[in-house]
Amino acid sequence: MKEEKNVVRQIPENKRHSYTFSGKVYPIKEWLELGEKLFGEDRTKWRFICPSCKNIQSAETIHQHNPQIIDDDSLKRIHEQFVYFNCEGRLNDKYGCNWSLGGLFRIHKTEIILDDGSYHPVFEFHTKSLETK
Ligand SMILES: [Zn+2]
Repeated sequence: MKEEKNVVRQIPENKRHSYTFSGKVYPIKEWLELGEKLFGEDRTKWRFICPSCKNIQSAETIHQHNPQIIDDDSLKRIHEQFVYFNCEGRLNDKYGCNWSLGGLFRIHKTEIILDDGSYHPVFEFHTKSLETK
Protein backbone atom coordinates (compact mmCIF):
# COMPACT_ATOMS: atom_id res chain seq x y z
CA MET A 1 0.00 0.00 0.00
CA LYS A 2 2.96 2.29 -0.49
CA GLU A 3 1.78 3.84 -3.76
CA GLU A 4 -1.52 5.23 -2.56
CA LYS A 5 -0.19 8.75 -2.45
CA ASN A 6 -0.03 8.81 -6.21
CA VAL A 7 -3.47 7.37 -6.83
CA VAL A 8 -5.26 10.65 -6.48
CA ARG A 9 -5.29 12.78 -9.57
CA GLN A 10 -4.61 16.48 -9.40
CA ILE A 11 -6.72 18.94 -11.30
CA PRO A 12 -4.60 20.51 -14.01
CA GLU A 13 -3.88 24.18 -13.43
CA ASN A 14 -5.31 26.80 -15.74
CA LYS A 15 -7.40 24.45 -17.76
CA ARG A 16 -9.54 26.40 -20.20
CA HIS A 17 -12.70 25.46 -21.98
CA SER A 18 -11.94 23.61 -25.15
CA TYR A 19 -15.30 21.90 -25.48
CA THR A 20 -18.97 22.76 -25.52
CA PHE A 21 -20.49 23.06 -22.10
CA SER A 22 -24.05 23.96 -21.20
CA GLY A 23 -24.31 23.17 -17.51
CA LYS A 24 -24.05 25.22 -14.34
CA VAL A 25 -20.97 27.31 -13.65
CA TYR A 26 -20.21 28.57 -10.15
CA PRO A 27 -17.48 30.93 -9.03
CA ILE A 28 -15.45 28.90 -6.52
CA LYS A 29 -16.65 31.04 -3.63
CA GLU A 30 -20.33 30.41 -4.43
CA TRP A 31 -19.71 26.71 -4.92
CA LEU A 32 -18.04 26.42 -1.53
CA GLU A 33 -20.85 28.40 0.08
CA LEU A 34 -23.41 26.12 -1.52
CA GLY A 35 -21.57 23.03 -0.29
CA GLU A 36 -21.46 24.44 3.20
CA LYS A 37 -25.14 25.28 3.09
CA LEU A 38 -26.03 21.78 1.94
CA PHE A 39 -23.68 19.70 4.04
CA GLY A 40 -22.02 21.84 6.68
CA GLU A 41 -18.46 22.98 7.23
CA ASP A 42 -16.87 19.54 7.35
CA ARG A 43 -15.93 18.96 3.73
CA THR A 44 -15.26 15.28 4.30
CA LYS A 45 -19.05 14.92 4.54
CA TRP A 46 -19.88 16.71 1.29
CA ARG A 47 -21.63 14.28 -0.99
CA PHE A 48 -21.10 14.11 -4.73
CA ILE A 49 -22.70 12.05 -7.44
CA CYS A 50 -20.72 10.41 -10.23
CA PRO A 51 -22.11 11.61 -13.59
CA SER A 52 -21.44 8.21 -15.13
CA CYS A 53 -22.62 5.51 -12.70
CA LYS A 54 -24.52 7.77 -10.24
CA ASN A 55 -22.45 6.52 -7.32
CA ILE A 56 -22.84 8.80 -4.31
CA GLN A 57 -19.64 9.47 -2.48
CA SER A 58 -18.04 11.67 0.13
CA ALA A 59 -14.49 11.71 1.42
CA GLU A 60 -15.92 10.10 4.53
CA THR A 61 -17.58 7.19 2.71
CA ILE A 62 -14.52 6.70 0.51
CA HIS A 63 -12.42 6.43 3.63
CA GLN A 64 -14.92 3.98 5.13
CA HIS A 65 -14.59 1.86 1.99
CA ASN A 66 -10.79 2.07 2.05
CA PRO A 67 -9.73 1.82 5.68
CA GLN A 68 -6.21 0.91 4.59
CA ILE A 69 -5.67 4.54 3.59
CA ILE A 70 -4.49 6.13 6.79
CA ASP A 71 -1.83 8.67 5.99
CA ASP A 72 -2.87 12.29 6.31
CA ASP A 73 -1.65 13.38 2.89
CA SER A 74 -3.77 10.81 1.07
CA LEU A 75 -6.83 11.54 3.18
CA LYS A 76 -6.40 15.24 2.57
CA ARG A 77 -6.09 14.68 -1.15
CA ILE A 78 -9.26 12.60 -1.19
CA HIS A 79 -11.41 15.40 0.13
CA GLU A 80 -9.53 18.33 -1.38
CA GLN A 81 -8.94 16.95 -4.86
CA PHE A 82 -10.35 13.53 -5.52
CA VAL A 83 -13.92 13.24 -4.31
CA TYR A 84 -15.53 15.78 -6.66
CA PHE A 85 -13.47 14.83 -9.69
CA ASN A 86 -13.08 11.05 -9.76
CA CYS A 87 -15.46 8.19 -9.09
CA GLU A 88 -14.28 6.18 -6.14
CA GLY A 89 -14.02 3.10 -8.33
CA ARG A 90 -10.63 4.47 -9.35
CA LEU A 91 -9.46 3.68 -5.83
CA ASN A 92 -11.51 0.56 -5.15
CA ASP A 93 -13.35 -1.31 -7.89
CA LYS A 94 -15.93 -2.67 -5.46
CA TYR A 95 -17.65 0.71 -5.57
CA GLY A 96 -18.72 2.99 -8.38
CA CYS A 97 -16.88 3.07 -11.69
CA ASN A 98 -13.60 4.47 -12.94
CA TRP A 99 -14.96 7.76 -14.27
CA SER A 100 -12.74 10.81 -14.05
CA LEU A 101 -13.53 14.32 -15.18
CA GLY A 102 -9.99 14.50 -16.49
CA GLY A 103 -10.93 12.13 -19.31
CA LEU A 104 -11.82 12.70 -22.92
CA PHE A 105 -15.60 12.51 -22.69
CA ARG A 106 -17.48 15.40 -21.13
CA ILE A 107 -20.72 14.43 -19.43
CA HIS A 108 -20.49 16.57 -16.30
CA LYS A 109 -23.09 19.24 -15.56
CA THR A 110 -21.24 21.55 -13.19
CA GLU A 111 -18.07 23.57 -13.40
CA ILE A 112 -16.36 25.99 -11.09
CA ILE A 113 -14.36 29.08 -12.00
CA LEU A 114 -11.32 29.81 -9.93
CA ASP A 115 -10.15 33.31 -9.13
CA ASP A 116 -7.60 33.09 -11.94
CA GLY A 117 -10.42 32.62 -14.45
CA SER A 118 -9.78 28.94 -15.10
CA TYR A 119 -12.68 26.50 -15.38
CA HIS A 120 -12.75 23.13 -13.70
CA PRO A 121 -15.34 20.40 -14.05
CA VAL A 122 -16.72 19.00 -10.81
CA PHE A 123 -19.21 16.32 -9.83
CA GLU A 124 -22.62 17.61 -8.85
CA PHE A 125 -23.54 17.78 -5.21
CA HIS A 126 -25.84 14.98 -4.16
CA THR A 127 -28.71 16.89 -2.61
CA LYS A 128 -31.27 14.16 -1.93
CA SER A 129 -31.57 12.01 1.17
CA LEU A 130 -28.85 13.54 3.29
CA GLU A 131 -29.19 11.07 6.10
CA THR A 132 -26.09 8.97 6.61
CA LYS A 133 -25.95 5.36 5.41
ZN1 LIG B 1 -18.90 6.29 -11.22
